[in-house]
Amino acid sequence: MEGAVAVGTSAVRVQGLWKRFGQQVAVAGIDLELPAGKFVGLVGPNGAGKTTTLSMVTGLLRPDQGAVEIAGHDVWRDPVAVKARIGVLPEGLRLFERLSGRELLSYSGRLRGLPGNEVDRRATQLLDVLDLAGAQHKLVVDYSTGMRKKIGLAAALLHNPEVLFLDEPFEGVDPVSAQTIRGVLERYTASGATVVFSSHVMELVESLCDWVAVMAAGRIRAQGPLAEVRGEAPTLQQAFLELVGARDRDAGSHLDWLGGGSR
Ligand code: ATP
Repeated sequence: MEGAVAVGTSAVRVQGLWKRFGQQVAVAGIDLELPAGKFVGLVGPNGAGKTTTLSMVTGLLRPDQGAVEIAGHDVWRDPVAVKARIGVLPEGLRLFERLSGRELLSYSGRLRGLPGNEVDRRATQLLDVLDLAGAQHKLVVDYSTGMRKKIGLAAALLHNPEVLFLDEPFEGVDPVSAQTIRGVLERYTASGATVVFSSHVMELVESLCDWVAVMAAGRIRAQGPLAEVRGEAPTLQQAFLELVGARDRDAGSHLDWLGGGSR
């Protein structure tokens, strides 16, 4: 099927991936095996190493050590084959601000080698589904945070990638736009494609994903089907706290000056 890695194979395979920034170890030798056709969540607290991992997996940041394969292609040895098969919505999304939303999609589509009429057809549909048709001729610089995420998502989906990587796609997005994005992603995975997204919001991951990888302090603490990782715990949040060891410090007792009206 176009737009999908054969079911049963791995969409993403990561082996022994390391990244250090000076003394700081951001990613400490992780292994990951993410199945095709799933909605995969990479979860972990701020600073866990999620963005660094996704940057290395998508070929934006060179690892110190380790290998990454996407749909059977090595990201660093075969970058063109990999980039043709993936879509990426990176953190701190940089867009061409002086283009309109429609122009941005036309540019992305042509860059991907799609014929002009096909780009127009897909762009019209994506703008419509993502509720951006009314703003398609507005410059991207004038878009709100949610609109920027949506136009970035449209650009990442235009060439119908096999695997879509999203770094915190719901950050700063209002509930209506979040629901729209969610609908598009659910439709996309239902067709057999794979979504890998990072988030520190456990409830979101729990409600969307069928497969999760839990990351903390640069290491993968658990990975597998959501129900397996959650285990006996009532929520993923609870399972996560058990996996990484909740800090036993009672924050309240250290902030005895806070509240109560006294200065
Ligand atoms: P968040 O949820 O806050 O975005 P994250 O899980 O995505 O966090 P990363 O951004 O990957 O985490 O950061 C992992 C660690 O690596 C952090 O300690 C961070 O300070 C450090 N780090 C990341 N990028 C750099 C860089 N370019 N230079 C130095 N340190 C970095």
